[in-house]
Amino acid sequence: MTMTGEMLIGATAVRGTEDTFYGINPATGDKLEPAYQTGTTADVDRACALAEAAFDTYRATSPEQRATFLESIAAGLEALGDELIQRAHLETALPIARLQGERGRTAGQLRLFARVLRDGRWQGATLDSALPERTPPRPDLRMQRIAVGPVAVFGASNFPLAFSVAGGDTASALAAGCPVVAKAHPAHPGTSELVGRVIQKAVADAGLPAGVFSMVQGVGNAIGTALVAHPAIQAVGFTGSRAGGLALMNVANSRPVPIPVYAEMSSINPVYLLPEALNARGEQIARELIDSLVLGVGQFCTNPGLLLAIEGPALDKFRATAHTALTGKPAGTMLTPGIHAAFERGVAQLSEISGLTRAACGVDTTGPNQARPVFFETSADKFVADHRMHAEVFGPSTVLVVCKDADALVEVTRLLEGQLTATVQADAGDHAVAAKLLPALERKVGRILFNGFPTGVEVCFAMVHGGPFPATSDTRTTSVGTTALDRFLRPVCYQNLPADLLPEALKDGNPLKLWRLKDGELGHA
Ligand code: NAP
Repeated sequence: MTMTGEMLIGATAVRGTEDTFYGINPATGDKLEPAYQTGTTADVDRACALAEAAFDTYRATSPEQRATFLESIAAGLEALGDELIQRAHLETALPIARLQGERGRTAGQLRLFARVLRDGRWQGATLDSALPERTPPRPDLRMQRIAVGPVAVFGASNFPLAFSVAGGDTASALAAGCPVVAKAHPAHPGTSELVGRVIQKAVADAGLPAGVFSMVQGVGNAIGTALVAHPAIQAVGFTGSRAGGLALMNVANSRPVPIPVYAEMSSINPVYLLPEALNARGEQIARELIDSLVLGVGQFCTNPGLLLAIEGPALDKFRATAHTALTGKPAGTMLTPGIHAAFERGVAQLSEISGLTRAACGVDTTGPNQARPVFFETSADKFVADHRMHAEVFGPSTVLVVCKDADALVEVTRLLEGQLTATVQADAGDHAVAAKLLPALERKVGRILFNGFPTGVEVCFAMVHGGPFPATSDTRTTSVGTTALDRFLRPVCYQNLPADLLPEALKDGNPLKLWRLKDGELGHA
């Protein structure tokens, strides 16, 4: 497929007219052809107007039609073959094998949403029969969930496929019946164009209105701001920085009609190293933890940026192995000069904190955008007193906080910001401490893991990739897994509607054979 450097507005390809930018190979600093140009607010207007025009037709498509559409996008991504992987590799410096896995995950999540659509439970069909004899009489009440309207999706820099143009936000919005206007991440414009063209073709092949999908490109905040401010947009999916997420939330809240922004922003993902587990397998935990820390040059939202443990000989052994393991890890190429600069700033800021020791560093390498892994250590008292240590340093950096006892672990937990994950390394003898921790963790995080590592997020029915602020902007939702769909649906109740005007999902006799909650009983009635 040819990359032209154009944006995709409905069925057309359009060249931006503002600032020129290129994909940059972060490993070499080289510009990658073609040149892209930033779109204008007029481009955003057209994309949003087309999305609004497409909405009623698209939301009226059957779940089967939308499922087939999602599957054709998945097949189209796979059919791009090596071209997509090579371009993504050039634009991100992420390894080929990782990108192949990410493509599998991206296609897999599109197919999973197709399955959810066919299952029908997502529609939440609920019927309460009329009770005319009751005093007062109860009317006939029926409820279903419908699509909220056009959704703006901001592609993430660190997952150029799975959280980008055809990633989880787009898949769940399209599944819900919402047209999507994507804002491609400027760090991988070519990858975005290749993927965007696959979706554009799938829209045409399915005979859907062209406005079901558009993709704008650009650098600078103007285009993203215009997109979130546009009156046609009814919800936003975002993965990126805390500052970016907050800025877009402000835009959304300042509109005459405010809209929800589902932003996944920052998390340091505490890992609890409990004493019995460290006694039994501290060295193994240390090696695996360091592998998790440096995976993908630490550029995961679930990166283990905070370790919490109780002082003692078991911790000493863990610490020694962790330092040795980290010292052997080479620096790696980060995704963009901006992300690299933010990492360097974060590490420099931590290095200035008195009472925080830089305990081990990885091997320095030459070349642009190299991030050297780093391991800091401090006491619980110092950590509690200085909030600079609580902020995400996006990249391979972690802070070990040494606590006097189990009560101190719980105390520190209560002071943490919201997190995507918390991990507990615990053996049977630690369960009493773990039981004390769990209620505190439930209040802080979206996913609690035992004896694993937080990097690696399964796309399935039970997954929660969410959590209290600043992990996300809406603690009730997830951006990964099938319940991500809920963000883009809203309930509508129909009271005493004549039978011929009822939506298919709510008609007597259940013509669509859906799972329905009828008078409090779940079944096919
Ligand atoms: P970002 O700066 O938040 O950008 C993400 C997207 O939002 C881009 O398309 C960006 O485009 C747009 N944007 C950002 N600020 C905006 C604003 N004020 N108004 C309108 N649009 C805005 O994220 P990034 O480029 O991926 O990485 C920067 C930092 O984000 C990293 O160093 C890291 O700290 C954090 N990050 C966190 C995660 C995570 O999962 N927790 C993932 C990736 C990055 P423009 O810049 O062109 O406006």
